[in-house]
Amino acid sequence: MANFPPQFIDEVLSRTDVIEVIGRHVELKRSGANLMGLCPFHHEKSPSFSVSADKQLYYCFGCGKGGGAFQFLMDMDGYSFPEAVEYLAEKAGLELPQDNPESREKEQKQAAQRRKALQLLQEVSDAFAAQLHGSAGHKAMAYTKQRGLPEHIVRDYQLGFAPDGYGFMQRVFGADARRLAQLEAVGMLFKNERGYADRFRGRLMFPIRDKRGAVVGFGGRIMGEGEPKYLNSPETPWYHKSDVLYGLSEHRDAIRKRKMLLVVEGYMDVLALAGFDLPIAVAASGTSIGERQLREIFRLCESPIFCFDGDKAGYQAAWRALERMLPILKPEYQPKFLYLPDGEDPDSLLQKEGKGAFESRMTSQAKPVLDTWMLGLQRLAGSGADGLARMAKKADQMLEKMSDNYLRQAWKQKVESETGIQLQIIGSNRRFSVPKPRAVHLQVKPMLYDEFMAGLLQKPERISTLPEEAKDFFLDNELYYQIYTRVFSWQGSKTDQGITLAQHLQRDFPEAVQEIARWMNQEPVLDINFASVVLDMRMRLLQRQMTNQNDLAETTRLAKLEAELKQELKTLNAEIEEQHRGNE
Ligand SMILES: [Zn+2]
Repeated sequence: MANFPPQFIDEVLSRTDVIEVIGRHVELKRSGANLMGLCPFHHEKSPSFSVSADKQLYYCFGCGKGGGAFQFLMDMDGYSFPEAVEYLAEKAGLELPQDNPESREKEQKQAAQRRKALQLLQEVSDAFAAQLHGSAGHKAMAYTKQRGLPEHIVRDYQLGFAPDGYGFMQRVFGADARRLAQLEAVGMLFKNERGYADRFRGRLMFPIRDKRGAVVGFGGRIMGEGEPKYLNSPETPWYHKSDVLYGLSEHRDAIRKRKMLLVVEGYMDVLALAGFDLPIAVAASGTSIGERQLREIFRLCESPIFCFDGDKAGYQAAWRALERMLPILKPEYQPKFLYLPDGEDPDSLLQKEGKGAFESRMTSQAKPVLDTWMLGLQRLAGSGADGLARMAKKADQMLEKMSDNYLRQAWKQKVESETGIQLQIIGSNRRFSVPKPRAVHLQVKPMLYDEFMAGLLQKPERISTLPEEAKDFFLDNELYYQIYTRVFSWQGSKTDQGITLAQHLQRDFPEAVQEIARWMNQEPVLDINFASVVLDMRMRLLQRQMTNQNDLAETTRLAKLEAELKQELKTLNAEIEEQHRGNE
């Protein structure tokens, strides 16, 4: 299902209006050819978020985010690419393509099962909530008050109560065999020697939602003494513990807006923070935090704070989280680690010292990831000369896991200066390829290649005006070069009506969506400027040819050509200058 045929994606794009997709989140006002609004991805007071209706793209001049309709759904609502395609296809009234009748049937069956399961889980959640607010939930409600949870939090997060004893599910949903099997499949019942039994009994219930907000499972907290303190739904086809973050769907918007994200350990902590007007926390659900969850966290906020208890278990959990984030860390990310006083959690601290004191802890006591790493290494290694050796050795092992070469070198230097021991790991990684430097997004003056690509994408008809040698034009940015070759080969093909060149490129180069959007949205490249850029490109091509040339006669010819081009370029640039002055 993940591999949609290109024609289908084109079809979806041609029936989608990016203005409508974005308009649900951002208020857009017309400004020249484009629409402008406040960027939903970074905090700003004056609009730098531009949407182009005819290009069907958006681009933020403040933070560099850009793309088309699919990308927007992915960035804004956390959809995966296939999910975004499906969502927009459905809105456009298109049926999803199927490879063959069997897989079609299977997928439809799965989709139907999923719909049913999520529907049932929502009904279960409603039933628990009704219990909490009814007379049976009196004690549980008192417990939420005693824990300091405001009434509106209890309602907004749809807390519930699973009554004591067995048989609640049957009482609510009946004893029909198919129904019971469904309840077992979603994790609410389990089988024992006497038949079906309720998994959750006598617990305060926290519905756990997936990133799109559907209830996929539950966490149940015992009130008072008893084990386990928290019980979670078992893993089901709809509830994958390593995927889910409690609080994510509820807090996504606030996290984006405030640019703050707090990773905490318990559901109660998430809610306590929300109760103190800090709806910015998420928690793993029944597992320690894993790589997929970390990716999700960094996608939402580049500087999350990870909160841990200040006891031994807390240090161990922090170390685990740090090790898991090594492969995905980038210089742009600034995670911090906050250790709370021994025996405290965010919930207890907030009740004790209030919001202000907690916030100042977040700003003044959270330590950058590098410091946390150094401290952790020291703690592991112990003292003395062999301690230093152990520290260097462990550091080496951990640096191997990092995929960002620049960051690894910076961390390596830090350990070397701290221990005085030279680490083994070499500059380039043996197991991971070094990521290619991304195009710079905030360049004020567009670079030559940027202007060249922008000129082509903004007016694809220019492709046919390029000189013959343009087929050899060389852009020494691998990605640009690939895109350019595609653009060049695209000329003249007008097979799909309603699909712009940019949309084609977006589909074929999903990794370059941002660049493509920027080219389309940046200041229009005038014909005269484009002519000058093309001359410049021709000159560079010549210079390359000259350096590879051994034949004297040929070199002389090229040099003559170069001189001519230079002269032409000079004249043209003078003309541009002239026009520019005339405009002022
Ligand atoms: Zn922005």
